[in-house]
Amino acid sequence: IKEIGFENEKVREYAVGSKERAELKKTLKEMREQMLDIPIVIGGKEIRTGNTGKCIVPHDNKKVIGIYHKAGKKEAEMAIDAALSAKKKWEKLSWEHRVGIFLRAAELAAGPWRARLNAATMLTQSKTYFQAEIDAACESVDFLKSNASSLYKIYSEQPISTRDSWNRTQYRPLDGFVFAVTPFNFTAIGCNLSAAPAMAGNTVIWKPASNVVYSSYIVYQLFKEAGLPDGVINFLPGSGSEIGNVVLKDPNLAGIHFTGSTDTFQEMWKAVGDNIQNYRSFPKLVGETGGKNYVLAHASADVDTLVAALIRGAYELQGQKCSATSRCYIPKGLWPEVKEKMIREISTIKVGDVEDFSNFIGAVIDQASFDKIKSYIDYAKNSHDAEILAGGKCDDSKGYFIEPTFILTNNPDFRTLKEEIFGPVLTAYVYEDERFDYAVDLCESTTKYGLTGSIFAKDRYVIAEVEDKLMHTAGNFYINDKTAGASVGLQPFGGARASGTNDKVGSIFNMMRWISPRVIKDNF
Ligand code: GLU
Repeated sequence: IKEIGFENEKVREYAVGSKERAELKKTLKEMREQMLDIPIVIGGKEIRTGNTGKCIVPHDNKKVIGIYHKAGKKEAEMAIDAALSAKKKWEKLSWEHRVGIFLRAAELAAGPWRARLNAATMLTQSKTYFQAEIDAACESVDFLKSNASSLYKIYSEQPISTRDSWNRTQYRPLDGFVFAVTPFNFTAIGCNLSAAPAMAGNTVIWKPASNVVYSSYIVYQLFKEAGLPDGVINFLPGSGSEIGNVVLKDPNLAGIHFTGSTDTFQEMWKAVGDNIQNYRSFPKLVGETGGKNYVLAHASADVDTLVAALIRGAYELQGQKCSATSRCYIPKGLWPEVKEKMIREISTIKVGDVEDFSNFIGAVIDQASFDKIKSYIDYAKNSHDAEILAGGKCDDSKGYFIEPTFILTNNPDFRTLKEEIFGPVLTAYVYEDERFDYAVDLCESTTKYGLTGSIFAKDRYVIAEVEDKLMHTAGNFYINDKTAGASVGLQPFGGARASGTNDKVGSIFNMMRWISPRVIKDNF
């Protein structure tokens, strides 16, 4: 493998009457009718503990399409042994061989496995076919290919040799195993967080979020099909605290690759701190966590562009993206038009069963999320400081459905402007046109996060000024575009502050974290 080119996977349209649409529908039906029995996989061996959890369809919440076996203390210990033993051969395999396996997985994901990945994602995450396609199919493929291309660039970098010495860098993997802990909202994130360290020669213990063990297992099977040797990635569903208790205390822990809540990442960081004298190396902690992403509109903004971005940024995937827009600051002069168009657009959004391809919004992931999001909506309903302008209905009788909700508040410190809700809820604050600087300050001062943000303006001087002033508020900053939907390779993704370590998944920065270089000087 000399040089690996990278181009984003093309998003399929699934047009009515198309072959792709028929295949996806057929796969959805088959998955619904089967009951998958999902094992733990350690060193290639399937283990069934009998302590099981259910795989539930969020938009049809009595429907169970699988059960999974939960790992406990014993399985966590076994997984550490398996990862360490597999590492002996895996780290010695040439990088072309390692990467070749994952490029083969990318080809399978783009071709024969595409419908399976998308259907599992639609059924277990309640994603529409479009959201599933851009995640499970395209972003998974993109991550794998882009990581391969990043590794090529990293490995090509060598020090200068002289007349006296041959100097070279050996790109060793880390000295131990990597713990990948992955979220419910993107199949591609599970794929990337487990694959990236493995591509660099590490072995991995992968703990997927409990509500998406099903779609994660399809990814795991894809890796096996592509030829991944036993023990390189060990699949360990189960309780995060039970597994973490063993894994985080092990002296061989060399890295954590995490996406999830700020609280959980902080807990992991503390656990590592408490155990710091017992590790062989300083573990690398790589995490992408919460967000409270802003849209700032200037008086010169184009209202139609702004409204389209607010709708897509706030409500696609039920707002369950770390990058979702959850607060917006609108000048008073534009507000009547923005308000009217937002209310009109929201009233046309179809919420419901995502297996009906005409729906734009599915259900939120589970009962706990439903209850939490509803509590924020109820809080706004009962507050004197806020008004629900659109949506607000929550119904969990058939699925965990929450209407796209648009809140207006006159209090810049209102709870729904400050706290991460992780649901289809957007709060607006209207500022006096001449107090634009105050609105800029609010983007900065209202939250502890720093993930994504957007400025909407036609005035270039304003754009440049805001870009500069809000430098630390977002790891991904958008100009006249929505706050969500970064593409691998085009907008490397991640944030700082309480939003994570900003190691930019799918880029050279992230891949560097899974490498511990050794420099060799050889005298002539
Ligand atoms: N990369 C995704 C985006 O830009 C968000 C990932 C996440 O929610 O963690 O929308």
